[in-house]
Amino acid sequence: MKILVINCGSSSLKFQLLDMENEKLITSGLVERIGIEGSCYLINVAGEKHRVYVDLPDHSVALKHVLDALVDPQYGLISSLDEISAVGHRVVHGAEAYASSVMIDDDVMNELIKCTELAPLHNPANIIGIEAIQQLMPGVPNVGVFDTAFHQTMEPSSYIYALPYEMYTKHRVRRYGFHGTSHKYVSERVADIMGRDDLKIVTCHLGNGASVTAIDSGKSVDTSMGFTPLEGLVMGTRSGQIDPAIISFLMEKENLTINEMNDMLNKKSGILGVSGVSSDFRDVEAAAAEGHERSQLALDIFRRRVKRYVASYAAVMGGLDAIVFTGGLGENSAEDRKLICDGMQFMGVEIDDERNNTRGVEAEISSENSKVKVFVIPTNEELAIARDTLKLTKDLI
Ligand code: AMP
Repeated sequence: MKILVINCGSSSLKFQLLDMENEKLITSGLVERIGIEGSCYLINVAGEKHRVYVDLPDHSVALKHVLDALVDPQYGLISSLDEISAVGHRVVHGAEAYASSVMIDDDVMNELIKCTELAPLHNPANIIGIEAIQQLMPGVPNVGVFDTAFHQTMEPSSYIYALPYEMYTKHRVRRYGFHGTSHKYVSERVADIMGRDDLKIVTCHLGNGASVTAIDSGKSVDTSMGFTPLEGLVMGTRSGQIDPAIISFLMEKENLTINEMNDMLNKKSGILGVSGVSSDFRDVEAAAAEGHERSQLALDIFRRRVKRYVASYAAVMGGLDAIVFTGGLGENSAEDRKLICDGMQFMGVEIDDERNNTRGVEAEISSENSKVKVFVIPTNEELAIARDTLKLTKDLI
């Protein structure tokens, strides 16, 4: 049984085709610059990358090229689209409507459209992707897997902002949390490894976007992203949590429009804004190693913020059994993992430097005596989406 996973962004899309008999990846790829000059798609075949430059005016045309490539005899991937049993779509925002993945029908599409005002940059692209697949692969079931769903278990004391309560009832302003598919996947892996389902886990998804989640007995009880993915940690280009009064202060001082202010908070802040060097951690770490002070400062701010969340979430849960690092930085940077955990020995967190000297593979990196286990777990959101898609569609196909 083969499942196609689609993750549509505003001008790009990623895809994976998985054989769910053995959960093996058949192929993966991405399409870039949809609707922009220089568009192309890339498909991985047997370890080789094939990049094809072609005019891709919209997502529908882009997906048509992807589907054609999947059945192209020169790649030898599948012989017909009929082999694809279902399509799983990453959808950013499901608001309060979805606490788990769902088969997509007309009612769901209407609900997704209603969620668009909450995720104006993401949901429209997700909706276009679903519509394109419905058109190109009629009769094939589509499943929506939401970034927000896993966090629907949070209690009001975690998700209500201390604004006038009507802002929640009238405008749905509350904390939703994101990266849910990733936090769920890595926490379930740890529950498997440790053979327990009553664990108190803090998962740190550290990449260009970054968030921390407190998970008690498999349920998200708190998470660092909020109404939008802007809240919480310092990220590649996002500010994370700041004093909200700064916004009106700076809009006045710098004579900024709402869009310009949003642009500053989302695209010009974070690691990029403080370092002035790059939004990519590798560049900033290289600059810091050469003595660039603002790069060092950016990294120090980032690490301190992660530490704050980890420790405060242990307090929220009344204990801590495991910390998990995932995402591009969390999976690859031994130094960041070490420095984030440093100082938490008092609460039973002890990293083993030798075990920590690992990249991109599943590993336990805490010392033998560490009360709290620390793990690196590479995330696999696509596999999690494919598993949910299979679960919801296997009786239909
Ligand atoms: P993601 O958004 O999860 O793909 O993560 C991307 C981020 O991970 C980028 O900022 C990369 O610089 C960072 N990253 C990847 N590998 C490393 C590494 N070895 N050391 C530090 N940062 C890394």
